[in-house]
Amino acid sequence: KWVYLNGEFVPKSEAVVSVFDHGFLYGDGIFEGIRCYSGNVFCLKEHIVRLYESAKSIMLDIPLTPEEMEAVVVETLEKNGLPDAYIRLVVSRGVGDLGLDPRNCKQASVIVIAEKLSLFPQRYYDEGLEIVTVPTRRNVPDALNPKIKSLNYLNNVLVRLEAARAGVHEALTLNQDGYVCEGSGDNIFIVKNGKICTPPTYVGALEGITRNVVMELCETFQIPCAEVPFTRHDVYVADEVFLTGTAAEMIPVVNVDGRIIGSGKPGPITAKLTEAFRQLTVQRGTKVPGMFST
Ligand code: PLP
Repeated sequence: KWVYLNGEFVPKSEAVVSVFDHGFLYGDGIFEGIRCYSGNVFCLKEHIVRLYESAKSIMLDIPLTPEEMEAVVVETLEKNGLPDAYIRLVVSRGVGDLGLDPRNCKQASVIVIAEKLSLFPQRYYDEGLEIVTVPTRRNVPDALNPKIKSLNYLNNVLVRLEAARAGVHEALTLNQDGYVCEGSGDNIFIVKNGKICTPPTYVGALEGITRNVVMELCETFQIPCAEVPFTRHDVYVADEVFLTGTAAEMIPVVNVDGRIIGSGKPGPITAKLTEAFRQLTVQRGTKVPGMFST
């Protein structure tokens, strides 16, 4: 197993960063999670665009061009012989001193890890997931903008812990006004009377790449899909609920805070979109030479 670390591939056991790296000291950095399906790096370009936009917003210079970064992702998969993988791309401010000032960090650290991913157990995709809402609030645009995929994931970590304490695998966050934002690592969609809604990102949600793909699929199928704020009540009374994310893909939700959603089984619109999404995962993206097969 090889990890890309600042320009070279090192064995996993030697892939370490300094305790003076501001990614470690301050969570000063950004990241991406990307999937490779049968040798197709799904939406690689979109993930690279988001990475560089996150970098720009936090004034972080990435020492590689976007094209070079794409090539590194592909090379990491080739080097590890992994046609199906989860890729974690991390760019931190780099090594500095103990002070907060990032100008003392001379060069950003760039790390690319490719691993086999263990997802939610298959039965949740078949039968649907039970989730809850939790006390931790999502940060909103006047704080750290939720569009920045930063290394400050403490909120999301707390959401996961609060979900675990409630005996479930995922949970929803609300913002300070009580509007539903997203899961700890995924976006939410609700379906009501044949119409789909997802929260606008300004409510407090990442502009998920899977979310964007699903919105496009809705357009293809001419299913009305709107970005509108909604509350827990709207989730409870929805006909269908599902989550989207690079790691989770599309996963149906059948119970929220003890309220059974719709029939209590994954719904037909979710199923239709999931099927189309699956097909796209091996079509849209960047092929790893010699690895792509359908
Ligand atoms: N929301 C958060 C907080 C996330 O970390 C992620 C994962 O990247 C998502 C949503 C889903 O986004 P994407 O579909 O780009 O993976």
